[in-house]
Amino acid sequence: MNNFWKWILNFIILLSLLSCAKEDLDANLRIEIDPRIEKYYKEDYLSSRDAFLEIAKKFSSKFKLTQIGKISIPSKDKSLEYRVDYIFIPAQRVVEKTFILTSGIHGIEAFTGAAMQRHFLEEIYEKYVNLQNTNTLVIHALNPWGFHNLRRVTENNIDLNRNFGLTKDLFNKKNEGYRAIHELLNPNSPADTGFLQDKLFIVKAIYNIATKGMPALRQAILEGQYEIPKGIYFGGQEFEPLRYPLDELLVKATLSSKKILFIDLHTGYGERGVLHLFPSDPKNEKVKKLTEEVFTGYKIDWASSDDFYKTTGELSTHVCDLVAENVDCIPMVFEYGTLNSQTTLGSIESIHRTILENQGYWEGYASKEAEKRIKEKYREMFFPSSKKWRTKVLLDTEKIWGNVFKNF
Ligand SMILES: [Zn+2]
Repeated sequence: MNNFWKWILNFIILLSLLSCAKEDLDANLRIEIDPRIEKYYKEDYLSSRDAFLEIAKKFSSKFKLTQIGKISIPSKDKSLEYRVDYIFIPAQRVVEKTFILTSGIHGIEAFTGAAMQRHFLEEIYEKYVNLQNTNTLVIHALNPWGFHNLRRVTENNIDLNRNFGLTKDLFNKKNEGYRAIHELLNPNSPADTGFLQDKLFIVKAIYNIATKGMPALRQAILEGQYEIPKGIYFGGQEFEPLRYPLDELLVKATLSSKKILFIDLHTGYGERGVLHLFPSDPKNEKVKKLTEEVFTGYKIDWASSDDFYKTTGELSTHVCDLVAENVDCIPMVFEYGTLNSQTTLGSIESIHRTILENQGYWEGYASKEAEKRIKEKYREMFFPSSKKWRTKVLLDTEKIWGNVFKNF
């Protein structure tokens, strides 16, 4: 049998597997639902923001010099104020360290991130953080427009976590791998999800995986691109309005710190129900060691490993670039997996949902049902309605905090 027929045979086998596979994504989550989770997960931006501000107010009456603040993000939508809210609790005696916890740089991922933040403030902060020598900054919903409008990107279609840098050099970056599959990633017809369209996408995806290889493909798609403004993973041509006010806040919050731990909360990538530790490249060996110390006992997925990918313009690197060279700054991402995107099929499903949502936003939908299905699946990818999933990721995060603050 020549390669062509082998390929066709493999493909038919895979396709039939796909058609019979009954999805039970939670099959591996053996966990009792914890009723405590209810109060942390909110179902929209405004109730999440209200809940965050309520806790922040409690903190300001409890800890001296606590600051509550906001950065307003300009928008064409004047029906509400899009704002990034934060609480800053300074070290109560002398500043040695700063801990920063951010959510929703990818708007729709804020549902889970904000839940973790409120859980941190209510149940973790006083128990584990050294209040005497640690500044704590918690920032709610870095991309409020995306959160409210259920998109990952900003109002300008920008992936905010590909948009940070000390200089504008990143906007000149070319991503050849992305260009080569641009038409697959950004189709210019109304979004549809019929049986045939779904299978056709899988055929094209498998063809690309077979000819280009999964790691190269994943890298091309996810690293970010700066050329196609309506495309997925567009990093922009300019800094977003958040950039400078956020820099100012971060510099103020970390002043006099010798050590910084920055954790940015994300969902969507990786094994379902698993908290992945996904740091950006540490600036030196010392920081790498320190990261391993702080997260002792946990698997760290360094960006250079095969399963993960390197990005440009991300915030965690930027935060550590902002502070003096001699400050030990640990840039970390917590990524809560939802669709098993570490597997080939999961990966195809994730990218397909991402493409359809973006396609629908720009090109419209083939039908009302298609719109409903695409939006539902997109939300599920970043904020599963499964209570088992919600319990699992919250309890795993609760567990990790004790270790982190013992070692930080
Ligand atoms: Zn994300």
